[in-house]
Amino acid sequence: MNKPDAMATQLIHHPYQPPAGFEAPQPAVHKASTVIFRDVAAMRARDWRSKAGYTYGLHGTPTTFLLEERIATLEGGTACVLVPSGLAAIALVDQALLSQGDELLLPDNVYGPSAAFARHELARWGITCRHYDPLDAASAAAAIGPKTRLMWIEPPGSVTMEFPDLTGLVAAARVRGVVTAVDNTWGAGIALRAFDAGVDIVMQALTKYPSGGGDVLMGSVVTRDTALHQRLKQCHMHMGLGVAGNDAEAILRGLPSLPLRYAAQAETGLALARWLAGRPEVLRVLHPALEGSPGHVHWQAHARGAAGLFSVLLDERFSAAQVDAFVDGLRLFRIGYSWAGPSSLVVPYDLASLRDPALLTRQGLRGHLVRFSLGLEAVADLQADLAQALETLRA
Ligand SMILES: *Cc1c(COP(=O)(O)O)cnc(C)c1O
Repeated sequence: MNKPDAMATQLIHHPYQPPAGFEAPQPAVHKASTVIFRDVAAMRARDWRSKAGYTYGLHGTPTTFLLEERIATLEGGTACVLVPSGLAAIALVDQALLSQGDELLLPDNVYGPSAAFARHELARWGITCRHYDPLDAASAAAAIGPKTRLMWIEPPGSVTMEFPDLTGLVAAARVRGVVTAVDNTWGAGIALRAFDAGVDIVMQALTKYPSGGGDVLMGSVVTRDTALHQRLKQCHMHMGLGVAGNDAEAILRGLPSLPLRYAAQAETGLALARWLAGRPEVLRVLHPALEGSPGHVHWQAHARGAAGLFSVLLDERFSAAQVDAFVDGLRLFRIGYSWAGPSSLVVPYDLASLRDPALLTRQGLRGHLVRFSLGLEAVADLQADLAQALETLRA
C-alpha cells in the first residue's frame, strides 16, 4: 500500500526557476519583511492579493509562494494559504467563513482543540456549534439547520479512528448549501485526495507528514474555488498570519520524501496493529484499514492506504494505573503528542472524557484507549518493545 505514484514525482519535479546561472534544483530560502519598490508608481500598482509581485514579507516570499503551490498540487487544489500551525488553519477557516448568528457542525470525534476553539472563542462572537455522528450521515443531515454554514469532516478521527461516511456527509451538506472542510492531516494528500469526494476546503497540519521531522509547526488551507480562496486570503491578511522562510524551507525539504515516509510508517503501523489485535490484553484495535474498525467500509471507498496511526482498547480488567505503567514501560515509543516524525509516539487517552457516551455505546467502544503513531524505527524492535511493556500488564 501507499506505493509512490505520480505524486511522488510531482513533489520533486515542480516548476521552479533558480536564479540565472545557478542551475540547482533545490529552492532558495528568501526572508524579508520589507520588499523594495522601484518607484511610487510601482508601489501603488502592486496588490497583495495578486501573486504577480511581492508587496511585504507577511504577504509572501518566493519561498512561501513555492510551498503554497506544492501543497495545492499535493491536495489536488488550485490555491493555498499557509499559517503557523494546523490549529491556526482550523481557526482561520472558522473565522473566514462564520459570522455572528451562524452555526458550525463538528464531528463528535473532532480534533479536540478544534472543538475547544468553537466552545471558548467562536461562542463569544455568537457562533454556535453542534456535533454529529461521523458514521451516520443522516444524523449530520438532521443537525443542519437554517443557521448552519460550515461542516468540518475528519477522515478518520485522530484518536478513535472512525473513518466517516464522506460521500453521505458531503451530499448532506451540499443540498443545504453548507460549506465542507476536511482536516486531511491523516491522509496528507497521499492516502486521501479529499477534493475527489467533492469537498470545498482541505486543511492539513503540515506539522505532521509533510514536515516529517517533528521540528516544524505549520498549517495549510487549500481550495479549488477562487472566491473561497480570496475570502480565506483576506481574513489571513487581516489577522496578520504568515510563516517564516526557514520553516517553509524545512517543509519543502520534507516533501520529496513524503510518499516514501508515508508508505513506510503505514506499513509498520499495519503490521503492529495486526500483531496487537492477536494479543490477549487487547480488546480491540482501531485502525481504519482493519476489518471491523469503525467506518472501514468508508475507508475502503475513499482511501488509498493509511497513515501510521492507530489506537488500541486495552481490556477493562486492567486498572488505569496498570495502563499508565504499560505506557511508562515502553522504551522506543516516547510519550508525546503529534505524529509522523522519525520517533514512534504513544499517548493514553481517557475515552469517556473525549466522546458523547451514547455514541461510545453505539460504536461499542470501551476499555482503556492508547494511541500509537509509528516512526521510522525497525518494526521488529517496535514489536519487541510492545511485547516487553505488555508483560507489565501480566504482573
Ligand atoms: C496535529 C493536528 C492538528 C493541529 O496541528 P498543529 O500544527 O499541531 O497545530 C489538527 N488536526 C489534526 C487531525 C492533527 O493531528
